[in-house]
Parts: sequence; C-alpha cells; structure tokens
Amino acid sequence: MADQEERNALLDNEEEEESDDEMFQLVVHEEIADSDEEDGEDDETGDGRERGNDGEKFDRALPATHSYLGDGMDELSGRTVLDSEKEIELPLLPMYGVVLMPGETLPLHLFMPQFVTMMKRCLEGNKTFGVCTIKSGSDTDEFSDVGTTAEIFSVKEDTSGGIHTMTVKATGRQRFKIISKRRQSDRVIIATVSVLADEPLVARPAVAFACPRELMLAPCEQVVNTGERGKDGCVTVSKGKAKMLQQLRRDPPCLSPLPSWVYRMFDPFILTHRVANELLAWSQNMVIKHQSDNPTEFSYWVAANLPLDDTLRLELLMTNSVIYRLQKELDVISKYSSFCCRHCDAPIGHKDDVFSMSVDGALASYVNPGGYVHQTLTLYKVTNLSIISRPVTQDSWFPGYAWSIAQCSRCHSHMGWRFTSSRHGLRPSKFYGITRSSIKPAIVQPQNGDEEGGKSRMCRQS
Ligand SMILES: [Zn+2]
Repeated sequence: MADQEERNALLDNEEEEESDDEMFQLVVHEEIADSDEEDGEDDETGDGRERGNDGEKFDRALPATHSYLGDGMDELSGRTVLDSEKEIELPLLPMYGVVLMPGETLPLHLFMPQFVTMMKRCLEGNKTFGVCTIKSGSDTDEFSDVGTTAEIFSVKEDTSGGIHTMTVKATGRQRFKIISKRRQSDRVIIATVSVLADEPLVARPAVAFACPRELMLAPCEQVVNTGERGKDGCVTVSKGKAKMLQQLRRDPPCLSPLPSWVYRMFDPFILTHRVANELLAWSQNMVIKHQSDNPTEFSYWVAANLPLDDTLRLELLMTNSVIYRLQKELDVISKYSSFCCRHCDAPIGHKDDVFSMSVDGALASYVNPGGYVHQTLTLYKVTNLSIISRPVTQDSWFPGYAWSIAQCSRCHSHMGWRFTSSRHGLRPSKFYGITRSSIKPAIVQPQNGDEEGGKSRMCRQS
C-alpha cells in the first residue's frame, strides 16, 4: 500500500528504530527547542521554509477542498439569506474550540444520532444550522449566546458497520444572537435567534455628500472616469464627479474637517489597507483575501485568520461595527508578536513564521476521523514542542504530508502536529499545524543577555 511505503520511508529517517511496545508509551521522540533541530534539504532552510524553485511546490488549493473527507460527496447549490428583521428558529451545533466566522469553511464528521438527525432535517429545509462555542471547562449546555449560521454545501451519508454517520462541509454565513433555546425529545437544541446585521458602511464619512454611497463603496476598477455609459458592471459618473472621486481615493482625508489621523481610524477602506499592510509586515508568507473590495468580508477573514482566544474571537464576532472589528484587529496585529502555550506560557511560535498552507489562509478548520474540529494555524517553525508519534499519512489534511502529534515540552499539553512531506522534493519539506485552542497571543520579552531573542524568552500576556 502506497501509504504504508511512505510511512516506512519516513520511519527510516527517524533517529532510532523502536519496537512496537515502545510505540504505546508516551515517548518524546524529539524536542524542538529552537529552529536548528534538523538539517534542511538543499533547497530549503532548516525549518522547512521554501527557498528557490526546485522541486514540487505544494498546491495550496488542496487543503481548502478537504479531500481527506473522501470522494462521493453530494454538492448542493443555492444560498440562504436569513431575514435580520425577524426572529427565527435554528437547530444548534455547540462546538468545543470553534468560533465560526462568516465566510469560513466548516468540515464535520458527525456520529451522534441527534446531530445526524438534525443535519437530515436541515437538508430537507434551508440547509442551515447554527454554530455556537462551548465555554471552556463547561458541558455542552453552556455555550456562547452569539454564533454563526452555517449552510451545508456538500454532504455524504454512510451506514457502513450499522452506524449512521454524516460528513458535511458548510460555510459560515450570518451572525446571530440567541434569544431563547429549548432541547427537544431527540436532544437536538432548537434556538430562537435574532440574525445580526453589520452596520452600513459610511465610506469617506466627511465627504459622503459628494458622491452616492454606492459609488463610494464601488471597487476602483468598476468606476469609469467619463460621462459615457460604462461597460458591464461599471458605474457611470460625470467627468467632474469622477475627478473628485479619484482625488478622494488618492487622499480621502483631504476634504475632511477631521484631523487626518482621526479620519484614518474611521474610514473602512483605509483601515482595510492598514490591516492588510500590518498583516504583511507580520509575515510576508500570508496570502491575503478580500483586501481591496469588501471591508466587511475582509474583517471576517482577518478575524478567522488571527490565532485569538475564544473571548477575543467572540468579541469580533459579536460587534455589528465593521470599523470597530477592523480597529480591534489592527490593534491586535500591531501589539502581538508571538504565541505561547495557553497552559504554561511557554513560547511556541513567532509571527514571522506564520504562513498560508491553504488558499483560505494561515488558519482554517479541519476535522479529524474522531469528529473533532481543530482550527489550525500553520507555521514554518516552532519552539518548545515535543514530537510524540511517528509520521502517518492516513487522513492527512495536507495531501502529500505525514502528520506526527506535537505536545508542549514543558506542560505536555497537546499543541498540534508536525507535517513532513512524504514525496521527495515537495515544498515546504515540513511545517507545523498548531491548534488555536492551545495557544494565546503574547508579546515576547527578551531576557537579560538574550538580545538576539534566542532560546530563553518569556511570554507576556496582554
Ligand atoms: Zn505548555
């Protein structure tokens, strides 16, 4: 079997061959204390970072397809938009460690009968259910009172082995607030919710009188600068108004009575630009989506991609203000430089090493065969992790890579996985997937005599 051969090849690269008995012990195979724990291949640095163009570059579109869920999924079409004016009823799926953002893909393996039944009913209706976050340390009845609707776009049922299971791919759609909830006799939770709408954007607030709002919000490339009828999808404006619009786009605060720095904190397009620039300054390896044309979608994409704890992520989900969401994200991105273990504060990763292994971004949701969904951040390099299992290619979220379990070397909490390429020449040669629920953002403080920010660093929380 190809997988087995790949696994054997990888096992040969381990430091020592071990007996099967030793596999059942919690043996620390490898301590990752800093970036130089292994020698890299010729075309890569020691941390697996890509360099040069030799070899096969990983196709970042693959993880977004969640191909590990298998073939034979039925693709569904259509789009449900729930009315924010009315209260509606939704079946709820409370989840550990998942705060779903609009636009984010949610893969699910469902085994529990009540959730399989719930999904079947969803498929007969508008294909929509609600996702809420179970509060840390509580049972499934205690969850956030805000959540996100998820719409199923791909599904597969399976009854092999006498167990009815369901595999689902859904997309986060609209935010909601729970007004009341009840548990049915089949244990499905039904909530009465109010769908939350984002406040309308007032772009270029001080000069909004000069141009219609829809024109101010139109993407630059859709605006023509003549009085003639535009091409398909273009907005037609007079020459005078087009000239003013172009000037405003070049320097929006120029006509504002507000001080420039104040104006720049409230213009959604300027904020979007600043957040995108800060993210790129954070890490040049981030693939940024929705940057130029839609501040609302961009604000959700950033919220989905930052490794924030549940509290902060819920705060970004809860607000109706896109501008506040962008301001908060700008604050977080500019303040934090690293991530540390949630349980013992051991430094785990640095912002420079975050990269996008998927077209969806650097942080995305993946489901394991046991049905547990991990919102996982990808990094080229980590510190203070121990690898405690051998590489396995089966059910890998990243085709062509084998995964090994990684835990915090100080407190032994589960942190995520190391992924190593199982195909010769595949780039990057290795990387790490760290679960969002295992880390928290922090500011690294160099200790005395540690000016280079090397091995001995301490994390400070906000
Ligand atoms: Zn720890």
